[in-house]
Amino acid sequence: MNFDKPNPFDPRPELKIWFNGKLVSPADAKVSIFDHCILYGDGVFEGIRSYGGKVFRLDQHLQRLEDSARAVRLELPMTRQELTAAVYETLKANNIVDGYIRLVVTRGVGTLGLSPTRTASPTVFIIADQIELYPKELYEKGMAVVSSSVIRNHPNAVSPRIKSCNYLNNILAKIEAQDAGVYEAVMYNHLGYVAECTGDNLFLLRGGVMQTPPITAGVLEGITRDAVIELARKRGIILREMELTRQDLYVAEECFLTGTAAEVIPVTKIDGRPVGDGTPGPITKQMMADFRDLVRRGG
Ligand code: PMP
Repeated sequence: MNFDKPNPFDPRPELKIWFNGKLVSPADAKVSIFDHCILYGDGVFEGIRSYGGKVFRLDQHLQRLEDSARAVRLELPMTRQELTAAVYETLKANNIVDGYIRLVVTRGVGTLGLSPTRTASPTVFIIADQIELYPKELYEKGMAVVSSSVIRNHPNAVSPRIKSCNYLNNILAKIEAQDAGVYEAVMYNHLGYVAECTGDNLFLLRGGVMQTPPITAGVLEGITRDAVIELARKRGIILREMELTRQDLYVAEECFLTGTAAEVIPVTKIDGRPVGDGTPGPITKQMMADFRDLVRRGG
């Protein structure tokens, strides 16, 4: 076994990681193998963006982090103000104006049992780096997605509203997408209705009406989703949060995905079938432009 092979995915050594209150190099940002986040995926996180030096909807992200933590009975060791300051400190230390921020809170080091009461204090770390978007071409031509056979979490399992460090379910769906030669997969819920993609919320257009699954369909309460709903309403577009089936995907005139990393991206093929005429639709393009405008104006 060669455990010392060079890793092409190694982080840039000059990155400064905010790690439990200190700025350290990636090599020094080390979580214990006894941390329950490593042992069990017991932790919560956020993916956040900075545009022009301002963090996009940071309060909403921190609210979601607090909700995720509360749901799994993890007591955050920092206040919202402290987390806000830490996020900005990390951006500044890395000279990042436009970038991506990953904020993670682990359960902390504990015994080998599952019990979260047998852990010490949570670890908080923040990574700020350049963002890797989908290839530019996909924003112009649209991307293809496939239906996944892996269902999104049942609401009585780990709620899909919790942004936990256990994404294996979504990773299985992502693998299906990759096996099919595409970047994303649509996940359905336990009732067979459309939920969302592995890391993005989903929107359709039909007859000028914008449709998206309600939160109760088992989706993450996406912050980009919220922003796009606001933008659509501003444009006077009718928005229906409704149960959607695979049939709705197949008869849609337009489709797009929303997410912090992806922003707004057109989908032009679902399960090998063209969406509408197979090119990004006018309302999708409008939402892409409106979203870019929104982030440029500071959210
Ligand atoms: N759904 C899932 C499963 C996600 O992981 C994400 C990305 N955080 C989203 C949707 C999009 O949410 P947001 O717009 O807040 O990034």
